Amino acid sequence: MSERSAVVVIVGAGMAGVQTAVALRELGWRDRIVLLGDERHPPYDRPPLSKAVLLGGADSAPVDNIRFDVDFDALGVDLRLGLRAQALRTADRELITEAGTLRYDHLVVATGAHPVALPGTAGLPEVHLLRTLDDAAALRPVLDARQQVVVVGAGWIGAEFATAARQAGCEVTVVEAADRPLAGALPAVVTAHMRGWYEEAGVELRTGIPVSLIEPGSVVLADGSRLAAAAVVVGIGARPATGWLAGSGVRLGGDSAVLADDRLRTTAPDVFAVGDCASFPSARYGERMLIHHWDNALQGPRTAAANVLGGDERYDPVPYFWSEQFGRFVQYAGHHTDDDTLLMRGDPSGASWTVCWLRGERLAAVLAVDRPRDLAQARKLITRSASVDPALVADPGLPLTSAAR
Ligand code: FAD
Repeated sequence: MSERSAVVVIVGAGMAGVQTAVALRELGWRDRIVLLGDERHPPYDRPPLSKAVLLGGADSAPVDNIRFDVDFDALGVDLRLGLRAQALRTADRELITEAGTLRYDHLVVATGAHPVALPGTAGLPEVHLLRTLDDAAALRPVLDARQQVVVVGAGWIGAEFATAARQAGCEVTVVEAADRPLAGALPAVVTAHMRGWYEEAGVELRTGIPVSLIEPGSVVLADGSRLAAAAVVVGIGARPATGWLAGSGVRLGGDSAVLADDRLRTTAPDVFAVGDCASFPSARYGERMLIHHWDNALQGPRTAAANVLGGDERYDPVPYFWSEQFGRFVQYAGHHTDDDTLLMRGDPSGASWTVCWLRGERLAAVLAVDRPRDLAQARKLITRSASVDPALVADPGLPLTSAAR
């Protein structure tokens, strides 16, 4: 009697799911891998959706430029697209999909996140979200026609979309409920210098005022004022796509993220979680982290795959992300809180500058605006928990590495 071949089922065919499949093969998993995702497109990279894809012109097929360079057949990965996972029965090791039940030996949850919608706007044709290739494709005609656009939310995605829309020649207003852009990510002393970026690009930024209603052709703000808008783009955050795990025994946090441990294991046997859908405890930063950035969806899968294969690897990265907005390359590495000491490195009203956060004597995080060398050096210092001399850190004329004690 032949033994049944073991199977790893990966749910979600975005960056984290695809990288998990690749890492499993690289690390020596020889049995079956099933990778399923609910989008119809071949797996693709998401960051270009708020950048080059929006400006690609009507004729080019964007998926060809951004699909992952992975030969799934050659890797022996059973890729099932356009297939949604509906539920998980961990007691029976069964995944319920729209097309039937799949048995698994190990399962990796990599379902990413869904963008948060503005209440009451579902189904309104002029209201757009920006998460998928289909979302970006629906926005391209808006840019091609140079329509008047209101962007709701001055976060990373809102700023990137506004950049592209201005580049296309649209009239753009960004409305933000908080008193400043990127309020959830950066302190006021930093974001104060980003306001000017909007103005310089010809984007009107209205802060401290929530949207109360969207009507055909206009956005109504809480103070009763009305902004004309042929299209509205909502960029107010994303929540882990984990609703399908209800009742499965895989525990979720209050933020809907899968509560993974430091090995990226979930609370159910042989079920792991990676990428935007999962939080994990970081010993490095002393708190649970939910990271919605590309590098986390690249790095986490190696740990998850190693542990699927019986390893005992801990996941505790130095988080990293970048954003391209208003002609600037903005990079961030590490993690800071309001209790950390902020040091400016360079003049933030100038073209390029860096912000560093110190926790005690150690470098905890860095934000670099068009200073990629600072970012690269800081990332190394943060990774090795280096103690630094604050006076040298604050001197933009010296390499950051020279500040290490
Ligand atoms: P996802 O990429 O969301 O993939 C999850 C996949 O699972 C999706 O295809 C989803 O449809 C599918 N899925 C969900 N539920 C189910 C289900 N029940 N059954 C089957 N399939 C399911 N990060 C940066 O660091 N820098 C950037 O410049 C940057 N730009 C970005 C621009 C945009 C427009 C967006 C949306 C994100 C950007 N990011 C950026 C973030 C980065 O792209 C994400 O962190 C990364 O894509 C997360 O990968 P993931 O695989 O965890 O999730």
